[in-house]
Amino acid sequence: MSIVWDSFKQEGLSEGALLGSLIQEADAVVVGIGAGMSAADGFKYIGERFNEAFPDFIEKYGLLDMLQAFLYNFESIEEYWAFQSRFVAMNYLDQPVGPSYVNLKEMLEGKPYHVITTNADNAFYAAEYDMDKVFYKQGEYGLFQCSKQCHQQTYQDHDLLREMVERQENMKVPSELIPYCPECGAPLEINKRDAETGMVEDADFKAQEARYEAFLKEVAGQKVLYLEIGVGHTTPQFIKHPFQEMTAANEDALFVTMNAKNYRIPQAIKERTVHLKGDIAQNIQEAHEVVR
Ligand SMILES: [Zn+2]
Repeated sequence: MSIVWDSFKQEGLSEGALLGSLIQEADAVVVGIGAGMSAADGFKYIGERFNEAFPDFIEKYGLLDMLQAFLYNFESIEEYWAFQSRFVAMNYLDQPVGPSYVNLKEMLEGKPYHVITTNADNAFYAAEYDMDKVFYKQGEYGLFQCSKQCHQQTYQDHDLLREMVERQENMKVPSELIPYCPECGAPLEINKRDAETGMVEDADFKAQEARYEAFLKEVAGQKVLYLEIGVGHTTPQFIKHPFQEMTAANEDALFVTMNAKNYRIPQAIKERTVHLKGDIAQNIQEAHEVVR
């Protein structure tokens, strides 16, 4: 490879050891996290975890996975909140610590880094990240927004979500628990981005975005590792494509993608792309051993 990274000169490294070595060598790391990272820590949206928690919704609607269910247009607002309250409890309020998230955080300590994620779960809080270094691009399950997006403010009421879990019957929460927008009176919904209408982006979101963009600018010419973990092709405009473009624009940068699947890599950065196909949790664990 015609590049400045010494790690490639070491022979016979496993994927995990190579990852650890590259992180050590980098001046800065920009990390993009997708659903595959949470799945690697067992927070899967399909299979047993979904089937056991939502047999009622699966039976009624024939839902295939939790993402489909999360976005589903349920029959009534009472049903919507019956599902969402249980979903948010599972994937946010009560989400346990993910070992890969902890290992990643420990590997990055002492290194300039910043995270952008398309996940909306609680994994970064649970693993006690410095939240000034995390940008939640696609909202958070723990926040509400006006379903008409009439104003740019999010709301939070975890006690209400708990009460909805407790008091729901036959897949419906009591109507008196439905939260409404204080501005326009439309029902609130979970903070999420819609392909057509976008997302409520409040002052905190804007601050996260500004910190992320400032970091990108600060490290732009350095030996940067653009590390994407478990990022698929649902929304490539947020992580995958910008990471590839920033790598192309900086000849000292490297694009590392951790994914079992193959996605097309632009010709311009083929030489400076490393595809780690192995198990994400295992590779991070091995890298952690190298870095510590
Ligand atoms: Zn409103």
